[in-house]
Amino acid sequence: MIQSLSEADKKDLLDLLTRLVAIESVNRDPQTSRRTRPEERIAAFVTEHLRSMGMVVEAREMEPGRPNLIAHWPDQGAAGAPSLMLNAHLDTVPVDGMTVNPFNVTIRDGRAYGRGTCDTKGSMAAFLTALAIARREGALPSDKLYFVATVAEETCCQGAAALMASGFRTDAAIVGEATGCRVVTSHKGPLWLTIETHGRACHASMPHLGVNAIEIMSRVVQFVHGPAWQGRIKRSSHPLLGESTMSVTTIEGGAKINIIPDTCRIQIDGRLVPSEPANQVAADFRRMLAEHLAQSGLQPSAAGDINKSGLFSIVREEAYPPLDCSPDAPVARRLGEICREFNGQPGPLGVNYFADTGPFNQAGIDAVLFGPGDIAQAHTVDEYIELEQLYQAAEIILTLLTRHAGRSILRG
Ligand SMILES: [Zn+2]
Repeated sequence: MIQSLSEADKKDLLDLLTRLVAIESVNRDPQTSRRTRPEERIAAFVTEHLRSMGMVVEAREMEPGRPNLIAHWPDQGAAGAPSLMLNAHLDTVPVDGMTVNPFNVTIRDGRAYGRGTCDTKGSMAAFLTALAIARREGALPSDKLYFVATVAEETCCQGAAALMASGFRTDAAIVGEATGCRVVTSHKGPLWLTIETHGRACHASMPHLGVNAIEIMSRVVQFVHGPAWQGRIKRSSHPLLGESTMSVTTIEGGAKINIIPDTCRIQIDGRLVPSEPANQVAADFRRMLAEHLAQSGLQPSAAGDINKSGLFSIVREEAYPPLDCSPDAPVARRLGEICREFNGQPGPLGVNYFADTGPFNQAGIDAVLFGPGDIAQAHTVDEYIELEQLYQAAEIILTLLTRHAGRSILRG
């Protein structure tokens, strides 16, 4: 049977979303947020809400004032039962340039506008509402249920990584992100490289006396987008994700029009399919780029005072884990069955963005993404969620829980 929300439940859900959006939780960058503690106030509100649902709440701080929350009902879940967490993050991206009121939800044309409505307070409100209704109806599954709220998702999922480092585990996870109420079992993992080329400055009227770092970098850019490297990163493909990609996304170099530049810097955005380990790709990149530049005939100048690492350095390398949950994992299958009934989703999807699913999956948890809304609306100046999506997400989770009342979602 499909569960639908009563008008009163819909109103409660929308009220909860409105209250969540009203609490600013902007996470701009790790340094700023260490000082501003963006999740502290919303975590206090969510803690009180979870307690009002009868849950006990444990706070595990990633750093002072930035707690991941782990909530459960002590009397719920059979002995030895598998465990399932419903998860959503507490932070949002900044509100610069927003054309709608970011913290005061406006309803227009069947949409709720405001920062976080789509990413991802809508998911949080939907999950909390479904849990509360299923509890009220005495129709919870036998699996041990957790609601987990994470910090620092928007700055690369450091909160989820800290939660995994603290030892918390469940067997399965449903992570709230805007998937259009469809199940997502795969996403790519980012590999971000910052490259510097090393030249030697001199007056531009006598360029033969220097080494032009921008000229070296032009070869690096050609390499990144050229056939050898593109062939390497596209050598393996994933059934839901296709191939890995890599692009030069920023460039800066040079100081003055009449000076041969001694340094140039680019950033490269790589998105790797799960079968391509980031450290292996980075090692191949370093080796193949060195070979490419050696063949190009570019030489450090006769002056010989070029940086001893050669023509280039990888000055920063960051990687974040991909998601590769088996479509046959019980959480993916069971949630997928219900999504098919609600919206006709034929099978699990892959997406190119990444989320808290990465650290969870890396820690051995069967994690899927699921939530209301369109990811195209996340992070935008007029962020909104369709109310129909919001209600459907709650109804799908409620159906998942109540259909397995007294039984296991994850076993049997
Ligand atoms: Zn998000």
